Formats: sequence, C-alpha cells, structure tokens
Amino acid sequence: MHAILELAQRKTVIFDGAMGTMLMAAGLKAGESPELWNIEKPSFVTDIHRKYYEAGSDVVHTNTFGGNIIKLADRGLSDKMENINVEAAKLAREACPTGKFVAGDIGPTGKLIKPLGDLVVEEAEEAFFRQAQALIRGGVDIISIETMFSLEEALAALHAAKRVGEVPVISALTFNRTKKGFFTIMGEGVTQAVAAFEKAGADVIATNCSLGSRDMADLTKELRAATRKPILIQPNAGKPVTQKGVTAYQQTPAEFAQDGKEIKNSGADMIGGCCGTNPEFIRALAEAMGNLP
Ligand SMILES: [Zn+2]
Repeated sequence: MHAILELAQRKTVIFDGAMGTMLMAAGLKAGESPELWNIEKPSFVTDIHRKYYEAGSDVVHTNTFGGNIIKLADRGLSDKMENINVEAAKLAREACPTGKFVAGDIGPTGKLIKPLGDLVVEEAEEAFFRQAQALIRGGVDIISIETMFSLEEALAALHAAKRVGEVPVISALTFNRTKKGFFTIMGEGVTQAVAAFEKAGADVIATNCSLGSRDMADLTKELRAATRKPILIQPNAGKPVTQKGVTAYQQTPAEFAQDGKEIKNSGADMIGGCCGTNPEFIRALAEAMGNLP
C-alpha cells in the first residue's frame, strides 16, 4: 500500500489550504498566471509550501491548478506546460520534510465538454495525461484532481492519471447543496459520481470547494455511505460574503477546525482547506485533530 494511504489508516491526514490567495498576498496580480511563478518566482512558491508544512500539513498541493495545456493556452503559455509542472513538483519536493508528501494538483480546463461546449473529451484527457506525466516526472507522490464541476471532465482526468500509473490518484468533484441534496452544477449526484470514480480506479474519493465546512460534514456522511475508499474533504472557509464586489470568507480558523472534527467524525480520512483558508486554518485543524506539527 502507498505510504499516504497507510498514513490515513493511522491518523487524519492533513492537506494544505489555498494557494491562490497566498500568492496574491505575495504580490501576484489579477490576470497574472499563478503557475508561471513556478519558473519566474520559485522562492515565493516554496515559501508557501513551507508555511503549510510548518502549520501541520502532511501533504501539500503543487502550484499547478491551472497547469494543463488547455488552460495555459489562454495565457499563451502552452509551450511551458512541461517545464511549469516539473518545476512545480520540484519546488514542493524541496520544501517537503522527510515523511511528508507532495500531491500533484490537476484542476479543470475551464472549458465545457461537447455538446455543452467546444472541448472534445479526448482532447481534455490528453491534456490531463501530459500534465500528470510531467508532475510525476517532477517527483510527486500522488495526483490530486480537484475543483471539477463536471463528472465527465473529472473522469477524463482520472482516466488520464490512471493511464500514467505509478502513483495513487485522488479524484474530487465539487458539489452544491440543493433542496434535493448534493449535486454538481451539471446535476450529477453523490452515488453516481462515487460509483463512476471507483470503476475508473480512484484511490481516494474527494470533494472540495463551493461548500463551507458545515455543509461538508453532511456531504461527508453521504460520501462515506457510498464508498469504503479513503475520503479527502477540502471545504472553503465558510460561505463567501460579497460586499461591494469583493468576495470574502468570514469563518475563523477556530470555527473551521471545530467543523473539521465533525467532518472527521462523519467519515473523512483526510482533510484540507480550499478557498479562504491559509496556514492558520491548517494549524487550527491539525491541532483539533490532535496532530501536532
Ligand atoms: Zn475553493
């Protein structure tokens, strides 16, 4: 069994929090490519990884959320795809203490698959395949597919990562809460998604973003009822509040950590943070789980 999955049998594995907001705090401007910093300002990226490990993360994500070639092409960076992903993996590896881990982050293409959009599913899978290859070449321990709003796109990424092989794959889908339960914006439900992920060979079933930690505890129960695989939950820091066009997350680290306990008790094996979280949230979470950094 892979060391991360083994660790999950002994304790709640702590992941990291948001990367984008940390980069913005370090000077990343709106419209600038966060992934380009892996090449142009590597020390800032390594610094953020270190802060998360120091706060108690067992696993951090590489700075490659928008690192697939389709997304990078929007910024004219497709020729840098391999370099960006290999370097990102090396930066996280550099910051990673002995006994801790690096997850290669794969996010969505930002395009809709046919017939809703123009993207051909095979093209998406090829983009994810090449990204996963580069991340693994750079030395990641596990691939983490996240913030997928469509089951079809999530499966394209999962198939690609499993085809590369070599490391386990975390497969996440993003759900919204409706009166009828939890669904993706495409209308896919929890049991349908979990069954598809298991069939495609996901090693960890996950969800992240969109929901705050309260709702995530309920979603965790549904996921736990649908699978015996390890589960990773990465909530936002509560519900976003938009004031004068600016979105802010108002939950405190202590509240987040309190909900973290409920998420753990609802069946999560691994917990991290999404939008609005930072190393203080991860520190509070790690302490609440009884994991001292
Ligand atoms: Zn998020």
